[in-house]
Amino acid sequence: MQTPFTFRVGHLELMVFSDGHQSLSPAHPMIGPYEQPSQVHHSLRALLLPTDVLQLDLNILLVRHQDRLILIDAGLGQEDTTSGLLPASLAAAGIPATSITDIVLTHAHSDHTGGLLHPDGPLVFPNAIVHLSQTEYDHWMQDQPDFSASPLNIAPTMQTGLTTRIPQILRTIRPQLRLAAPRATLYDCIRLIPAPGHTSGHSMVEIFSGEETLLHSADLLHAAVLLQHPEWGMFYDMDFEQAAQTRESFLQEAANSGRMTMTYHLPWPGVGKITRGDKGFKWEPVTPCGK
Ligand SMILES: [Zn+2]
Repeated sequence: MQTPFTFRVGHLELMVFSDGHQSLSPAHPMIGPYEQPSQVHHSLRALLLPTDVLQLDLNILLVRHQDRLILIDAGLGQEDTTSGLLPASLAAAGIPATSITDIVLTHAHSDHTGGLLHPDGPLVFPNAIVHLSQTEYDHWMQDQPDFSASPLNIAPTMQTGLTTRIPQILRTIRPQLRLAAPRATLYDCIRLIPAPGHTSGHSMVEIFSGEETLLHSADLLHAAVLLQHPEWGMFYDMDFEQAAQTRESFLQEAANSGRMTMTYHLPWPGVGKITRGDKGFKWEPVTPCGK
């Protein structure tokens, strides 16, 4: 069992757990769907990344604040054989699933929400309030979400997967759900920041205490090549152009400020800084002790 990565932001104690990973194959067109495969492969290889598969780590942040134990996203859960590690990882750190008081969802894709439910339906975190942006909820609960601005426009089976599974999860957790305003502040330590494009209600999450902050960028970076080519985007971006603009703005701001950031899908624990490199931006991860 992986020991969580532990650090502090002001008075807050933060831990990053792993729910395992998810593999999408092949890497192109999952990354850079409108680019030439050879060009994407070349950039992947230059970063020593495989081209046959896009491996997405599932990094789950836990924020301890007074009597609240707050998770940011819940992982993919048992939807894949390589995921679903979160409840046991929490338990091994002395944190039973029943003690989680809140879960803040960055968006509703099942690699962030599937871990809320056991395969046969019951809630994994039965005592948690689940916070989700109202915009995101409304988007997935409408009759026919609009895929016309997404690479998914040519993939009806994948569309059906999303429009079936996400409302199913949201309906099941509805009694726990608390729908949030776009810039909601929770418990004086967490702030939602709209980051639309990947999904319409996709939100970054800022953790703050005193002068210190951590900016959790959620799904703005599915692979390190997007730091060099923010415009390449990702197959699941619902509004592809808007997602690229949001990604570019985030990278500019993070590099200018030098602030600590976190990302859900880069290699665990996904905590580090964005800097400027020869080609676009660079990811400078923290290195957990002993890793
Ligand atoms: Zn994701």
